[in-house]
Amino acid sequence: MLSFQLTEEQEAIREMARKFAEQEIAPHAIHYDERDEFPWEIIKKLHEVGLLTAGVPEEFGGPGIDYIGQAVVCEELSRGDAGVGTTVLASCMLGADPVVIGGNDDQKKRFFDVLNKGGLGAFCLTEPGAGSDAAGLSMTAKLDGDSYILNGTKQFITNGGVADYYTVFATTDKKLKHKGIVGFMVDRHSPGVSIGKKENKLGIRTSDTAQVVFEDVRVPVANRLWNEGEGFKLCMLTLDMSRPLIAALAVGNAQSAFDCALRYAKDRVAFGKPIATLQAIQFMLADMAMEIEAARLLSWNACWLKMQGKPFGLAASMAKAYAADMGMKVTTDAVQILGGYGYSKEYPAEKCMRDAKIMQIYEGTSQIQRVVIAANLLR
Ligand SMILES: Cc1cc2nc3c(=O)[nH]c(=O)nc-3n(C[C@H](O)[C@H](O)[C@H](O)COP(=O)(O)OP(=O)(O)OC[C@H]3O[C@@H](n4cnc5c(N)ncnc54)[C@H](O)[C@@H]3O)c2cc1C
Repeated sequence: MLSFQLTEEQEAIREMARKFAEQEIAPHAIHYDERDEFPWEIIKKLHEVGLLTAGVPEEFGGPGIDYIGQAVVCEELSRGDAGVGTTVLASCMLGADPVVIGGNDDQKKRFFDVLNKGGLGAFCLTEPGAGSDAAGLSMTAKLDGDSYILNGTKQFITNGGVADYYTVFATTDKKLKHKGIVGFMVDRHSPGVSIGKKENKLGIRTSDTAQVVFEDVRVPVANRLWNEGEGFKLCMLTLDMSRPLIAALAVGNAQSAFDCALRYAKDRVAFGKPIATLQAIQFMLADMAMEIEAARLLSWNACWLKMQGKPFGLAASMAKAYAADMGMKVTTDAVQILGGYGYSKEYPAEKCMRDAKIMQIYEGTSQIQRVVIAANLLR
C-alpha cells in the first residue's frame, strides 16, 4: 500500500528535529557562516539529543531511524542551516554507509562506537584529479603483510578536518580502473594522515571541507570493506543511499528561503499594498511551493523504494537532480521577492541561495545524475 503520510515515529522525529533547528541552529547559523567557523557547540547539542547519529543502526547503539526518517532529519536540519545538515549527513549517513553496507559486525562496532561517543565520520572518494570520474582515482593501496599502505590525497572532503573516522577508497592497480578499487575504514589519528587545505567556500560555510593527505598510512587488513576490486560497487551503492538525503537537504534549504519570502511578501508594501497581492509575486510563490513539494515526494519515493527492497538507484538520481535544481531556482526566486533586501545579509534568503549551489555539485553533479538517469532509461 502506498501512503504519503509519515508514520507517528517519523512525525515525532520531524517535530523534534524542527524544534532543534529553530531553537539551536537557525539563530546562530549566520554567525558561523560569516566567521567561516565550524559550529562545535551545535554539534555537541546534536549529539546530546541523538540526532548526530541519526544514520546509526539500533543494533550498533544508534537511534535506528528508518530511511524516510533520515530524510526528514536532513530536511529539518537543513531548514535551520544546510551546512549543519551536510555535516550530519556526511558523518553518519554518507560517511558511515560503506560500513553499513559492506562492514562486518566487528567493523561496524568499531566505526559506530566512535560516532556514538560524539565523533564524526567522513567519506573520502574525490581526489584533485578525479571527481565525476571516480573510477579514475589515483590513491594507492599496497598490501604489505597483514596491512595495506595507503598513499594519496583526497580533495573536498566534508568533515575532512573534523572527523575521527574516514571511509576511504583507493586502488590496488590503477590499470584495472574500477575493478582495482578497494574500500577501507581509516582512523584519522593513524600515523601519516594529515589535513591539507581547508576550503573557503561560497556556501555551506558552517560545514568543514578539507583536503586529507595519506602518506604511508598503514591500515590493517581487518579494516578493508568487502574484497579487493569490490570498492567501486560499494561506492556506487553508498552514493545511491545518500542521494535522496541530499535531495532532502535541498528541500529543507529551499523551504527556509520560501518561508522567508512568504513572510516578507505579506509585510512589504509597494504601490500602496502588500506585494503578496500582486499576481506576479503570487505565481512565483505558487511555483516555489509546488516545486518544493514535488522534490520532497521524489526524495521520499526513493527512500520508500529502498525500504521495500526494490531497486531505487534511478529514483535516487531523479530525486537528487530535481531537488538540487529546484533548490537553486527557489532560493534565487526568494531573493527576487525580497528585492534589494534579498541581496542583504539582514535576511536569510541570500545565505539559502549561496547554500543551494553545492547541491548541484557534490555527490554527483546535476549532469552526472542525468547521465545515470539516461543510462537507466536506455538500458
Ligand atoms: C563543498 C564540497 C563538499 C564535498 N564533499 C565531498 C565528500 O565528502 N567526499 C567526497 O569524496 N567528495 C566530496 N566533494 C567532491 C564532489 O563530489 C565533486 O566536486 C563532484 O563530484 C564533481 O567533481 P569535480 O569537482 O572533480 O568536477 P569534474 O568531475 O571535473 O566536473 C567538472 C564539470 O564537468 C561536468 N562533467 C564531468 N563529467 C561529465 C560527464 N560524463 N557528462 C557530463 N558532464 C560531465 C560536471 O558536471 C561539472 O560541471 C565535495 C565537493 C564540494 C565542493
